[in-house]
Amino acid sequence: MISIAIDGPSGAGKSTISKLSAKELNFIYVDTGALYRAIGYAAMQKKISCDEIEKVTELLNSISVRLVFNEKGEQRVMLSDEDVSDYIRTPEVSMMASAISALPIVREYLLDLQRNLAKTNNVIMDGRDIGTVVLPNAQIKIFLFASPEDRAKRRYDELCEKGMQVNYDDVLQDIITRDYNDSHRETAPLKPAENAIMVETTGNTLEQSVQKLLSIMKENIEKLK
Ligand code: C5P
Repeated sequence: MISIAIDGPSGAGKSTISKLSAKELNFIYVDTGALYRAIGYAAMQKKISCDEIEKVTELLNSISVRLVFNEKGEQRVMLSDEDVSDYIRTPEVSMMASAISALPIVREYLLDLQRNLAKTNNVIMDGRDIGTVVLPNAQIKIFLFASPEDRAKRRYDELCEKGMQVNYDDVLQDIITRDYNDSHRETAPLKPAENAIMVETTGNTLEQSVQKLLSIMKENIEKLK
C-alpha cells in the first residue's frame, strides 16, 4: 500500500488539491479534519466545552465516528448513525474542532481509525500530523503552506460560494487563531515532518497547485517501483 501524507495549515488548499489528485491517481482521499469536526460538532450539540475533560471523555464513550466512502469514492463522515458531513463546515464548528483537537484523548480516540484506513487502501490523507504521528512511515510526505491572507481569501470565497454570510476580516482572524492553536498544542502540533517536501501555494491558481502536487506525487511514486 502507498500512503501520501499531506499536512499544512488551514486553507492552504490541502483538501481540494488532495481530492483531485486522489481521483487522478485512483487513491482514496481521507480528510482527517472531518473527524475532528464531527467530534467538535457532537460536543457543540451537547453543549460541552473543551475544558470539561470528563464530559468530553463521556461523549467519546457514547458516540462512534466513522468515515464511509460512497460509490464515487467521496468521503462522508458518520457520527453514530447520522451523516453529519453537511453540518461540519461552519466557522463555529471549525473553531470547536481546533479547540477539541488539542485534547490528547481526542487524538488518541481517532488514531487507529486513521491508521486502519491506510492499512487497507492506497491513501492520500490530509491533516496536521499525518506525516509526523498518524503515518510516520508514509512513503511520500508533503507540507503545503501559503500566506494567511491568501488562505483567508480562499476560505472566504469557499464560504461565500456555499451561501454563508461571512466577513473577510473574521475569516482571516479565525485562520490566525487556528494556526496558533494547531501549532502550539502539546500533542501532535502542526509541523512539517523531517522528510516532508515543502510546497508553497501562495498566489497559485488551484489548477497550478494541483499540477505541481501531482507531478511531485507521480515522480515519487515512480521512485517506489
Ligand atoms: O482540516 P480542517 O480545517 O477541516 O480541520 C479542522 C481542525 O481539526 C483543524 O483546525 C485542526 O485543529 C484539527 N485537525 C487536527 N489534526 C488533523 C486534522 C485536523 O488537529 N489531522
